[in-house]
Amino acid sequence: MSRSVLVTGGNRGIGLAIAQAFADAGDKVAITYRSGEPPKELVAQGVLAVRCDITDPEQVEQAYKEIESTHGNVEVLIANAGITRDQLLMRMTEEDFSVVLDTNLTGTFRVVKRANRGMLRAKKGRVVLISSAVGLLGAPGQANYAASKAGLVGFARSLARELGSRNITFNVVAPGLVDTDMARQLSDEQRTAIVTNVPLARLAQPEEIAAAVRFLASDDASYITGAVIPVDGGLGMGH
Ligand code: NDP
Repeated sequence: MSRSVLVTGGNRGIGLAIAQAFADAGDKVAITYRSGEPPKELVAQGVLAVRCDITDPEQVEQAYKEIESTHGNVEVLIANAGITRDQLLMRMTEEDFSVVLDTNLTGTFRVVKRANRGMLRAKKGRVVLISSAVGLLGAPGQANYAASKAGLVGFARSLARELGSRNITFNVVAPGLVDTDMARQLSDEQRTAIVTNVPLARLAQPEEIAAAVRFLASDDASYITGAVIPVDGGLGMGH
């Protein structure tokens, strides 16, 4: 059955792979993109691309209106858009901290809250939040990012309790280091140091994150809510 799926930040990296996976499965997929051009290959497949900066509530509202008028209410939401602004605490500015929180955590709140309206009416819904292994393990230079990603866990688990009786599930995927532009911002030394601690001894490919997300949105995951699924090659084992 074809569902209305929204992937935020679906123009590149992990979001692009997630959008591709749902489109390949025959769902009606919408992506948001903040800058640049929407990905041609997805648009050619009929994916709806809507420009939206999730730090702006007005743009979130407009994006939902456009998606709803084309695909109907969003039934599956993948809150993927996120940023890093790495800095040691001594040098981390108030802006470094607040812009990361406003995008990764409050931005997710904005898109989830808006999707919830239609999901409540439909009495069903699937929400998957893209957190990070760093949210659970911490990382030097990433206090802002880790705080935002750990925040997503409490957010999802609260909503899992609040809205479980309405047949809406909230789950979190916590990737390790994934081969995208975000990972390419790290130095070779930083990447090597992380991979040294990964039992599978390599970075993840975006498609490997997409596979877990698709599972959580599928009928096979009907009794899973409030879960944090690591897709990290074993990096965070035991947390
Ligand atoms: P990229 O940097 O490749 O892509 C980030 C995406 O988020 C882009 O589509 C970007 O849009 C979008 N975005 C950023 N800020 C906003 C905003 N204010 N409004 C709307 N969209 C925005 O990152 P990845 O694909 O690697 O990461 C995707 C998610 O996975 C993020 O939440 C990240 O934290 C998480 N993650 C990534 C890991 C990794 O190693 N790569 C590891 C663990 C988690 P634009 O193109 O316009 O900038």
